[in-house]
Amino acid sequence: KYSGPSFKDTDQIKSNHIAPAVYNIYKKPILLHQGHMQWLYDANGQRFLDLFGGIVTVSVGHCHPKVVSALNEQSNLLWHTTNIYRHPKIYEYVEKLTSKMPGDLKVVYLVNSGSEANDLACLLAKAYTGNHEIISLQGSYHGYSSSLMGLTASQCYRMPIPVPAGFLHAYLPDPLRGIFGGCRDSLSQVPGSCKCPEDCVSSDKYIELLDDLLQNSIPTGKVAAFFAESIQGVNGAVQFPKGYLKKAQALIKKNGGIYVADEVQTGFGRTGDHFWGFEGHGVIPDIVTMAKGIGNGFPLAAVVTTKEIADAHMRATYFNTFGGNPLASAVGKAVLEVLEEEKLQENSKHMGEYFVQQLKQLQSAHSFIGDVRGKGLMLGIEFVVPGTKTPLPVADVSQIHELIKDMGILIGRGGKRNNVLRIKPPMCICKEDVDFTIHVLDKAIKMYSRTK
Ligand code: PMP
Repeated sequence: KYSGPSFKDTDQIKSNHIAPAVYNIYKKPILLHQGHMQWLYDANGQRFLDLFGGIVTVSVGHCHPKVVSALNEQSNLLWHTTNIYRHPKIYEYVEKLTSKMPGDLKVVYLVNSGSEANDLACLLAKAYTGNHEIISLQGSYHGYSSSLMGLTASQCYRMPIPVPAGFLHAYLPDPLRGIFGGCRDSLSQVPGSCKCPEDCVSSDKYIELLDDLLQNSIPTGKVAAFFAESIQGVNGAVQFPKGYLKKAQALIKKNGGIYVADEVQTGFGRTGDHFWGFEGHGVIPDIVTMAKGIGNGFPLAAVVTTKEIADAHMRATYFNTFGGNPLASAVGKAVLEVLEEEKLQENSKHMGEYFVQQLKQLQSAHSFIGDVRGKGLMLGIEFVVPGTKTPLPVADVSQIHELIKDMGILIGRGGKRNNVLRIKPPMCICKEDVDFTIHVLDKAIKMYSRTK
């Protein structure tokens, strides 16, 4: 039974003691109390289907019993730092984690958050290449710290102060809103449905622009790294045309740089077909950063790279008090085991395909839905003014979003214009959850339409 502060009390505490820049989703935020698998319960005991998994932090389900017992068992044994001693859990964990990595990606740094992982990846790229400039994509989110405010390109997460030098943003190869558009079919969940012979034709045009950035905006023409997600998360499940990441990696390499895949949102089987999102693009990065789903809600993140790149860091000792501490490593290991035992990558694939199919049907019934996209259980529904590509005004999307919540489903928001609903549930959802969601979305859009 809930016995914490009332909603009213939390309002008061928030206005007095929580930094005002901290933002609560929903006009009337939810006071969460408990979670179990894909379900969340608020302080009044109301149940919600969680389609946002705390922005993909929860991969195998809230308070999954196996993960909870791994944490409990370790919490009775030892809580400590990782670095200066050895602890079996950490060793077991990095062995298991690297067994999931392709190619020479076998060396691990354990850290506490996605931001920390990307910050370390910037350092490694500079140390290894000897170059300084780093390129990320327009609209990207790679973390929040004063050093990452240059890497993250999404404007609403950047303060109007000078960001660190050496970050550039390449044109976003967005098939819906990018300057060259793209082949929507190339993004289909149905393999082989792209009409382009091999790679989507638009990928070459975006690569020309990336080349232009390298040649004309960087004095040396040399670059340390190119960062990209495999599907952009915060920017509203933006997928790239087929072939883009592969060509970008080759171009960056030609200019002295390495490719960093930010798998913070797309990793751990979420995209369904593969364990890592980048595998769907036929590439092997030089560095992979991961967080969120790695710990199923527990603070854990990692940077995985090659021995050659990690060796370039030998000049300085690396220290991180809590990165991959025994509790985090016990959780991380249990998460990998559950993913395997419960075949959650396969479930992501099947539920994702079913979701997309149902959402496309909903799209044909509601002209407010301009686009349905994504892969596995990382999906986006973009709302537009009917018959146009103009984003539906934020207040209208908020109205729909709030109605969905009132009917018992938590769903994410995103995109440059905040007009995309983002679906990223714990990967244990079932067909009934998808059917329930479609029913609620349909009802919410109808209720909204009646107010227009
Ligand atoms: N990369 C991506 C793609 C993310 O979505 C996020 C968080 N939204 C981060 C990095 C930063 O992770 P964290 O909040 O754990 O620092």
